[in-house]
Amino acid sequence: MDKEMLRLERLSLVGEMAAGIGHEIRNPMTTVRGFLQLLAKKQEILKYENYINMMLQELDKANSIITEFLLLAKDRPVKLERQNLNHIIESLSPLIVADAILNDKLFRMELETIPDLLLDKKEIRQLILNLVRNGLEAMQPGGCLIVKTYYSEKEVILCVEDQGAGIDPGIIDKLGTPFFTTKEKGTGLGLAMCYSIAARHRAVIKVDSGSTGTTVYVLFNLKPEGNDPEAGAPSGLGLS
Ligand code: ADP
Ligand code: MG
Repeated sequence: MDKEMLRLERLSLVGEMAAGIGHEIRNPMTTVRGFLQLLAKKQEILKYENYINMMLQELDKANSIITEFLLLAKDRPVKLERQNLNHIIESLSPLIVADAILNDKLFRMELETIPDLLLDKKEIRQLILNLVRNGLEAMQPGGCLIVKTYYSEKEVILCVEDQGAGIDPGIIDKLGTPFFTTKEKGTGLGLAMCYSIAARHRAVIKVDSGSTGTTVYVLFNLKPEGNDPEAGAPSGLGLS
């Protein structure tokens, strides 16, 4: 089995577990959160307000991890609609700029005119945000993150380029494995989610990394997949 297959196999196993467990954990957490909020209003424990706020924050963090995890759920229906990748990126740009400024980094977009694609907007937003976040986190203050789009006859290419220290060649094969992280506060779910979202769009992710930075490419097919009858819509994903 090649590496790409292994990666997908691993993901689908996690995906199967994700839906069930995610919901089961979230319900009791919502209850706990509710009672904490009630407690926070009680006069006699106002002096513990800081603790309660910390607990609420931690609960929210756990909740957002579950949200990410649920996106990996295998049976989540994908909602493909004809739209332009550039519009999704532009709609995210205020969020990215804020994130970059807060961390003393720069952000630039280089978007060429590209054909529409069939995309699940919610998923593609997650994909972009996860790649952008990784890029920003990899850089020292002053570093610049660039998001590019362009296309060829065969594919539309999304490219997220950072000026970080690069990825150790020894861990390249582990990228996309759920919970694999080298960060103290990482979840190791970001790239797993990206690979899963890309697979659902029949897109391919390629990582090019060196000591001066990392570039992640997401290649969206514009043409139907040869003679494979299961390859989806006869016109392929690209709609020009
Ligand atoms: P997390 O960001 O929570 O660690 P990810 O799945 O997003 O999880 O990334 C997994 C690991 O891949 C990171 O911990 C990091 O070691 C590596 N990585 C991903 N993107 C980059 C990047 N742009 N530059 C350097 N390392 C990266
Ligand atoms: Mg990440």
